[in-house]
Amino acid sequence: MKIRRTSTPAALAVTALVGSLLLSGCGGVSSAAGKDGDKLEVVASFYPMEFLTRQIGGEHVKVTDLTAPGVEPHDLELTAKQVAAVQRADAVVYLKGLQPTVDKAVAQSRVKHAVDATAASPLVDHHLDEGGDDENEAHDGEHGHEHEGPAGDPHIWLDPTRYAAVARSVGAEFAEIDPANAADYRRNTDDLVARLTSLDQEFKDGLADTGTRTFVTSHAAFGYLADHYGLEQVAINGVDPEAEPTPSRMAAIQRAAKENGATTVFFEALVSPKLAETVATDLGLKTAVLDPLEGIKEPDRNDYFSVMRQNLTNLRAALGAR
Ligand SMILES: [Zn+2]
Repeated sequence: MKIRRTSTPAALAVTALVGSLLLSGCGGVSSAAGKDGDKLEVVASFYPMEFLTRQIGGEHVKVTDLTAPGVEPHDLELTAKQVAAVQRADAVVYLKGLQPTVDKAVAQSRVKHAVDATAASPLVDHHLDEGGDDENEAHDGEHGHEHEGPAGDPHIWLDPTRYAAVARSVGAEFAEIDPANAADYRRNTDDLVARLTSLDQEFKDGLADTGTRTFVTSHAAFGYLADHYGLEQVAINGVDPEAEPTPSRMAAIQRAAKENGATTVFFEALVSPKLAETVATDLGLKTAVLDPLEGIKEPDRNDYFSVMRQNLTNLRAALGAR
């Protein structure tokens, strides 16, 4: 008995036809995806604004960050090229009151869509308890130095619920500027807000039961975080991380640390730990990092969420969490 060939000429023809249909299908998909020119050009002032912009804008935005990774943002100077980028941008996402040079560049530009984070989450004043000498001089309203602009502590992104409010306003603005992709911006915003909500819950659970509620930090960046989770921030210096504490301030810190059983002086990732180490040695305390996320080290490995979770771990250790 002879074995018949299974591939008749007719079967081969069908196979070839199916193959060519599949090929043309693939070709159609790749050519439709190749429209890169019309991305929204967004300038972000520093890391937390950049992170929001990328998460919400996704593939539809091209982001320029004015503050390079690993740079401390408070005293940022802008280059002429950066000022020009602000002028040209489709949108600027910034936080009024943190970086005076950025505030000025935005005010002087004709950028139509300036999203100010503080509009979504108004600033609160977190006075240091022993204010220091500056405040006594300032009550005439005649303030010679840099801390002008809207009064208040700018570090709102360190409270995940406030950061979520900023995310919502950025998402709404992008949807308005670029209605064709509004559904994507809304979905990305919802995803980000959901992740922030669960981060908030982790902080609530993780800090619910601790030996002390007080922590000492070199830079007064954690006032909103402390307020939201019922903690007490004792800051060595003010909102400006470079300032040196006065002797009376040092005495007040020592008293507060002792009375409240603080164990640790926190310093931040972008500023030298020298001051924190000196204070810790004087008070017989440990040091550890609490990162205010004003910039990010190794952006390929870290992001807002991984750094905040590390902050939670370090806070739990310092506060004696159970
Ligand atoms: Zn700061």
